[in-house]
Amino acid sequence: MNGKDNEKIQRLIERFDSPVPRYTSYPTALEWSEEFNAELFWKAIKSREQKAPLSVYVHLPFCENQCLYCGCNTVISRRKNVIDDYMDHLLSELAFYGEMLGKGITVEQLHFGGGTPNFLRIEDWQKLLASLREIFSFSKDIEQSIELDPMVLSPEYLEYLFKEGFNRVSFGIQDITPKVLGSVNRPQDIEHLDAVILHARKLGFVSVNLDFIYGLPHQTRESYAENLAFIRKHRPDRLAFFSYAHVPWMKSNQKKMDETALPVPEEKLRIYLRVREELLSEGYVQIGMDHFALPGDELSKALASHALHRNFMGYTTKPELDLLGLGASAISQINRVFAQNPVKYNRYKKAVKGEGPRFEKGYGKNDEDEMRSEIIRSIMGSFFFSISGFEKKWNVSFKERFAAEISALQEFAADGLLIVNDDSILLTENGTFGVRHIAKIFDAFRNGNAKTGFSRGI
Ligand code: SF4
Repeated sequence: MNGKDNEKIQRLIERFDSPVPRYTSYPTALEWSEEFNAELFWKAIKSREQKAPLSVYVHLPFCENQCLYCGCNTVISRRKNVIDDYMDHLLSELAFYGEMLGKGITVEQLHFGGGTPNFLRIEDWQKLLASLREIFSFSKDIEQSIELDPMVLSPEYLEYLFKEGFNRVSFGIQDITPKVLGSVNRPQDIEHLDAVILHARKLGFVSVNLDFIYGLPHQTRESYAENLAFIRKHRPDRLAFFSYAHVPWMKSNQKKMDETALPVPEEKLRIYLRVREELLSEGYVQIGMDHFALPGDELSKALASHALHRNFMGYTTKPELDLLGLGASAISQINRVFAQNPVKYNRYKKAVKGEGPRFEKGYGKNDEDEMRSEIIRSIMGSFFFSISGFEKKWNVSFKERFAAEISALQEFAADGLLIVNDDSILLTENGTFGVRHIAKIFDAFRNGNAKTGFSRGI
């Protein structure tokens, strides 16, 4: 990297390293209300076109080991039978929606996240998949994906999943260097990681994703060279490269981490840039800030045709699908209504039994929210927004309706971070570093005044 690049990077740090939403939804979950009337959600379900296909997400919160950096909603246990009670409630919830939605709706996307979904025993999967198949009809082109902790995964388990129709796997690797792993309580055996990834390839999963994190204790550009060698060796179809969000006031497990070993923001950004540079030179396409995909992957193709979107589950090429979330903390979006299940396990159980509020919180979008959501989704997903397409769809003058926002964009345009004209908004390569800040211009709840509690922009 030359001196000029370094200066540019310094400016980007100063400008974008401040708290800003990730915009996995708009309005963000901070605007959702606990007073949300569940009736809105039931109405949305009843009014949806009955045959319209669905995306289904199932949350499986159990893990055997508590990683110190974790920001997920998890239940830590080594006893496998803790799943029994959860499974009973999950199946009741599923049956409830089966009644409400009617049977036979096509599911085009089915995703299992956690926690560690491979905490489940094979007999748990048999029960869960049989119940899902009884209620839904799985599309023949279904995207059936699962997040896996490779350290508690055997070749036989992978074979079982493949036989059950899973075609996409995502392995949580995070880092492979012993010093980093030791500092975050995540013991991993590299030979085992190699073996399960190779086995997944051999079985023929359509897509293999690896997750890595930057910003963990003891990580440096030098230490990351080992991770890069591992990535080069396996050449995953997709790679998620997440920025570690240190929020110990929200996640008590993070309090146990040695904060003094965290890389300073400048080093953290340089790790990011080094990895990004390397991945681009290896032929990967950058998807949003933190994802990369091989050119033949459908995410890369969707990005090229400005058809990529971001939702709660990551990047998607199917933003039009309603999403049904099952399990503790799972989020649904039916038509314009968001609803989140209770986050705490006990509250979730009460909700399923009808002994407590069904949802933790939710939100019903109006036209204004929906328009802004569309703009933000497009900027976040494709680094591009089609003004002419939007005007045609909504029958409004973008220039008049969003005059203040267009004026706010000029500052970014003057700095070469985006190009805005009558037809579109297009982020430049440097602009992609500030994508969340640029999207924030269209956030009517913030408009330049980010609330605290978000992770930093870089
Ligand atoms: S395995 Fe994943 S979900 Fe479980 S504690 Fe570790 S990071 Fe969190």
